[in-house]
Amino acid sequence: MLRFLGLLLAILFVVPLIRSVLGLLARAFTTFAFKNTSQPAGANPQPPRVPSGGVLRKDPVCGTYVSEGLAIKRVSSGETFFYCSEECKKKHLAAKA
Ligand SMILES: [Zn+2]
Repeated sequence: MLRFLGLLLAILFVVPLIRSVLGLLARAFTTFAFKNTSQPAGANPQPPRVPSGGVLRKDPVCGTYVSEGLAIKRVSSGETFFYCSEECKKKHLAAKA
Protein backbone atom coordinates (compact mmCIF):
# COMPACT_ATOMS: atom_id res chain seq x y z
CA MET A 1 0.00 0.00 0.00
CA LEU A 2 2.81 2.42 0.85
CA ARG A 3 4.54 1.65 -2.42
CA PHE A 4 1.33 2.37 -4.24
CA LEU A 5 1.03 5.73 -2.46
CA GLY A 6 4.65 6.48 -3.34
CA LEU A 7 3.98 5.72 -6.96
CA LEU A 8 0.86 7.88 -6.88
CA LEU A 9 2.83 10.78 -5.39
CA ALA A 10 5.56 10.31 -7.99
CA ILE A 11 2.98 10.45 -10.78
CA LEU A 12 1.39 13.53 -9.24
CA PHE A 13 4.78 15.25 -9.28
CA VAL A 14 5.96 14.00 -12.63
CA VAL A 15 2.82 14.70 -14.69
CA PRO A 16 2.77 18.50 -14.15
CA LEU A 17 6.50 18.55 -14.74
CA ILE A 18 6.08 16.84 -18.13
CA ARG A 19 3.17 19.11 -18.97
CA SER A 20 5.15 22.25 -18.19
CA VAL A 21 8.09 20.99 -20.24
CA LEU A 22 5.78 20.22 -23.17
CA GLY A 23 4.17 23.65 -22.82
CA LEU A 24 7.57 25.31 -22.92
CA LEU A 25 8.51 23.28 -25.98
CA ALA A 26 5.27 24.20 -27.72
CA ARG A 27 5.83 27.88 -26.94
CA ALA A 28 9.42 27.71 -28.14
CA PHE A 29 8.25 26.05 -31.35
CA THR A 30 5.52 28.61 -32.07
CA THR A 31 7.80 31.58 -31.43
CA PHE A 32 10.38 29.96 -33.68
CA ALA A 33 7.77 29.37 -36.38
CA PHE A 34 6.53 32.96 -36.18
CA LYS A 35 10.06 34.33 -36.35
CA ASN A 36 10.56 32.59 -39.69
CA THR A 37 7.64 34.38 -41.32
CA SER A 38 8.12 37.88 -42.65
CA GLN A 39 4.73 38.96 -41.34
CA PRO A 40 4.55 41.08 -38.19
CA ALA A 41 3.34 39.55 -34.94
CA GLY A 42 -0.42 39.34 -34.62
CA ALA A 43 -0.97 39.18 -38.36
CA ASN A 44 -2.72 36.34 -40.13
CA PRO A 45 -0.63 33.26 -39.30
CA GLN A 46 -1.50 31.55 -42.58
CA PRO A 47 1.32 31.31 -45.11
CA PRO A 48 0.98 33.78 -47.99
CA ARG A 49 -0.23 31.29 -50.59
CA VAL A 50 -2.34 33.84 -52.47
CA PRO A 51 -0.42 36.97 -53.42
CA SER A 52 -3.44 39.24 -53.39
CA GLY A 53 -7.13 39.05 -52.73
CA GLY A 54 -8.86 36.08 -51.20
CA VAL A 55 -10.01 32.67 -52.30
CA LEU A 56 -8.70 30.79 -55.32
CA ARG A 57 -11.24 30.01 -58.04
CA LYS A 58 -10.86 27.71 -60.99
CA ASP A 59 -11.13 29.10 -64.46
CA PRO A 60 -13.67 26.80 -66.21
CA VAL A 61 -11.92 27.26 -69.57
CA CYS A 62 -8.21 26.73 -68.99
CA GLY A 63 -8.31 25.32 -65.46
CA THR A 64 -6.04 27.97 -63.99
CA TYR A 65 -6.64 28.94 -60.40
CA VAL A 66 -7.17 32.67 -60.07
CA SER A 67 -7.69 34.63 -56.88
CA GLU A 68 -11.22 35.91 -56.49
CA GLY A 69 -10.05 39.53 -56.20
CA LEU A 70 -8.11 39.46 -59.47
CA ALA A 71 -10.36 37.20 -61.54
CA ILE A 72 -12.72 38.40 -64.24
CA LYS A 73 -16.18 37.57 -62.95
CA ARG A 74 -19.34 36.73 -64.77
CA VAL A 75 -22.64 35.86 -63.15
CA SER A 76 -24.88 33.63 -65.21
CA SER A 77 -28.21 32.29 -63.89
CA GLY A 78 -27.12 32.56 -60.28
CA GLU A 79 -23.74 30.96 -60.91
CA THR A 80 -20.56 33.00 -60.73
CA PHE A 81 -17.71 32.13 -63.07
CA PHE A 82 -14.15 33.26 -62.56
CA TYR A 83 -11.80 33.69 -65.49
CA CYS A 84 -8.08 34.35 -65.65
CA SER A 85 -8.49 36.61 -68.70
CA GLU A 86 -11.01 38.21 -71.03
CA GLU A 87 -10.07 35.61 -73.63
CA CYS A 88 -11.19 32.76 -71.40
CA LYS A 89 -14.41 34.60 -70.66
CA LYS A 90 -15.04 35.02 -74.40
CA LYS A 91 -14.22 31.37 -75.07
CA HIS A 92 -16.57 30.24 -72.34
CA LEU A 93 -19.36 32.45 -73.67
CA ALA A 94 -18.73 31.17 -77.20
CA ALA A 95 -18.79 27.56 -76.03
CA LYS A 96 -22.11 28.09 -74.25
CA ALA A 97 -23.76 29.83 -77.17
ZN1 LIG B 1 -8.13 31.00 -68.32
